[in-house]
Amino acid sequence: MSFDPERFHPERVAAALADPARLAVLDRTGLMSSEPEQAFDRWAALAARALRAPIALITLFDDRRQYLKSVIGLEGAEPIRTAPAQLSICQYVISGASPLAVDDARDHPQLADHVGVVEHGIVAYAGTPITVHGQPVGSLCVTQQEPRGWTAADLALLGDFSDAIAGEIALRLAAGALGRANALVAAHNRIHELISADAPLREILDEVVLSIEGYDPRLRGSVLLLDAVLRTVHHGAAPTLPPEYLAKLEGLVIGPEVGSCGSAAFHGVEVVSADLETDPRWAPFRELAREHGLRHCWSFPILGAGGDVLGTFGLYGSAPREPTEEHRRFIRDAAHLAGIAIQRQRATDELVHRATHDPLTGLPNRTLLFDRLTHALARGRRSGTSLAVLFIDLDRLKLVNDTLGHEVGDAVLREVAERISGCVRPGDTVARFGGDEFIAVCEGIDPDGATVIADRIIEAVMAAKRGAAGGMSPTASVGIAVVPGGEVDAHEAIRRADEAMYAAKEEGGNRHRHGPGQAAEGAGRRLEVEAALRGALDRGEFHLVAQPVARFLDGSTHGVEALLRWTHPELGEVGPDEFVPIAEETGLIDAIGAWVLRESCAAIADVHRATGTALALGVNVSPRQLRHPAFAAGVQASLSDSGLRPERLVVEITETALLGSDPATAHTLAELRALGVQLVLDDFGTGFSSLSMLKERPIDGIKIDRSFVAGLPADTSSGAIVAAVVGMAHALGRTVTAEGIETSEQLAFLRALGCDLAQGYLLGRPMPFAELEAWLTTPAVGKS
Ligand code: C2E
Ligand code: MG
Ligand code: MG
Repeated sequence: MSFDPERFHPERVAAALADPARLAVLDRTGLMSSEPEQAFDRWAALAARALRAPIALITLFDDRRQYLKSVIGLEGAEPIRTAPAQLSICQYVISGASPLAVDDARDHPQLADHVGVVEHGIVAYAGTPITVHGQPVGSLCVTQQEPRGWTAADLALLGDFSDAIAGEIALRLAAGALGRANALVAAHNRIHELISADAPLREILDEVVLSIEGYDPRLRGSVLLLDAVLRTVHHGAAPTLPPEYLAKLEGLVIGPEVGSCGSAAFHGVEVVSADLETDPRWAPFRELAREHGLRHCWSFPILGAGGDVLGTFGLYGSAPREPTEEHRRFIRDAAHLAGIAIQRQRATDELVHRATHDPLTGLPNRTLLFDRLTHALARGRRSGTSLAVLFIDLDRLKLVNDTLGHEVGDAVLREVAERISGCVRPGDTVARFGGDEFIAVCEGIDPDGATVIADRIIEAVMAAKRGAAGGMSPTASVGIAVVPGGEVDAHEAIRRADEAMYAAKEEGGNRHRHGPGQAAEGAGRRLEVEAALRGALDRGEFHLVAQPVARFLDGSTHGVEALLRWTHPELGEVGPDEFVPIAEETGLIDAIGAWVLRESCAAIADVHRATGTALALGVNVSPRQLRHPAFAAGVQASLSDSGLRPERLVVEITETALLGSDPATAHTLAELRALGVQLVLDDFGTGFSSLSMLKERPIDGIKIDRSFVAGLPADTSSGAIVAAVVGMAHALGRTVTAEGIETSEQLAFLRALGCDLAQGYLLGRPMPFAELEAWLTTPAVGKS
């Protein structure tokens, strides 16, 4: 009989009992927490009979306790059925992993004092290990109260019984695994069915989690979905974990050391935290885990087809534990299924998104806009509130496209889209309606509120300087329709806003207008100006100033532009930018404009007579004037009254005047051409202009708006636009005037680009016509 004193060494015994591989097999058998069973009792009884011993025990050990699965012939054994392992002699069978035979324990050096010997009177003992999957999970022993010389045949027989018991256990394990595998296959089939039936993602993921929980009832699973942009995880499914726990993980930012799931999502690899109490990654969440009785978490990444991380599959349990190879295999399979479901859902989401959003800006498209607006109007009808539709049209975007290319135009659109979105509340809708048109829908808004939003949008669009367009900031015309819910449908609401936008555009853009029948913003001042404007002409409150226009070629004076000034006794100086649109709207412009023509023609003719210098005269004309049937006749009268030659008169018209195909305007323009006066397009680039307009319209020249000149020479995109416009204009035989030149750098730059005529404070500020004579005779050095 081999005698191995080491097997009694307390440390070795403890280590043998605590061997994780052994415990893992034991754990899988589930025997430690099982009830006594006849099948085992039969083996024990058979062993006792075969070996002619009065007592037989089948004992299982975890790292601390024994469990007497079967007891034959030992009276009063119930209290020690589960007892500390130290009370048992069988523990030494485990520590030796081989048979232990003691003929007379009373004179055994290690066992003489053992409680079993002293208190229970055990004298002879023979035990053999029950070895399952290579691990001694327990022992079978026979004992008696008299000494006995165990023979090799005795021990061989006992070993056979042990093996038979081990075989029974192994068979059960296999059957259990088979059952679980079958259950898992059934669960997988169910999941596949759900996926192909396009069931909601939540339902599928629940089923995935339940499949693993069914396989191992001690596990509780959770699927977290990764937001790849924000790098945060969000609840996907966790049918059995406490909602309070899940709520705390919502929106967690992943990182290299963030719990198990945060780390697994970050690295895209499996992260097993077998004991949350000791895993440093869990330090910040340990208290939380403890509160909910969670002790381990194994996290498996859920990967997409391309290996990208879609989320994580985390499995929790209430005691420290490592997953087995089988766990890993099944969890990976489940994670794979979850991945398929998530990818499928994302593909569907993507399709829906694509059908309802503009690819360039990512904003809702027309389809979604109509849908949302229709719903908003319905809500408004129920709640009795109004909503605002803001129609936003970008001025000068066409020009950006024509000159800087569509890529730059696209960048501007994206930038503007983002900024407009920032002007409304999160629940409001900003949609891209067409090429350079956007629509904002804001619920529960009155006209004043809409005005505030429109101002904000106009500001934001002007601020969109970043990006490829460089300093070339677009401007916006905004039309506002505030409609009470239920009063009109989506089409009508948009039509009203569109109409108002058109009005804003006609007034020169970069402003907003309310639709008809609405309290106009700033009504106070506007009405005041309007009232003051009536009769201003009769009261002689207007006068004209002249601003010189020079030739780039030699700096000589080419002519002047007549600019209208109004001084009201109470309002003081009111700028033309403010009162001209009002005069236009009220129709007062016809009379005022006729006066301007008459006065300026006379004044310039006087200068000619006094100095002998024949100057060109630029006169600004509003769109409305051009529609007036008697306009050309008025021009002719002014010319003949003053004696100014027609080719010296330059009629400055705006792009909006050329916009429509209004027959009256077309007629006037033809008449003017017949008279022989020059036509130039003023403020070129601020409105609807595109280069094609240059080609099609009967005009002699263009005046590039001063906003393009302002940023020169630093602003390269403005420079590029001016260069392109000059090239195109010259190719078509049109002259180019650059307005608003304030610095000599601008002047040099524009000269290099080949502009023909120059105007701006650098060359001369607007002055009374009476001062023109003196100015013309002052040497150039002392000017401006
Ligand atoms: P506009 O026809 O483009 O006139 C040029 C404007 O630029 C003038 O403003 C002028 O004072 C200003 N300007 C000239 N050089 C510079 C410069 O170097 N820097 C800057 N920052 N500004 C410069 P004003 O006189 O306030 O006129 C504004 C607008 O009012 C005009 O723009 C024109 O559209 C309109 N307007 C003026 N007079 C009349 C008129 O008699 N009839 C009509 N229908 N519109 C007029
Ligand atoms: Mg002008
Ligand atoms: Mg201008």
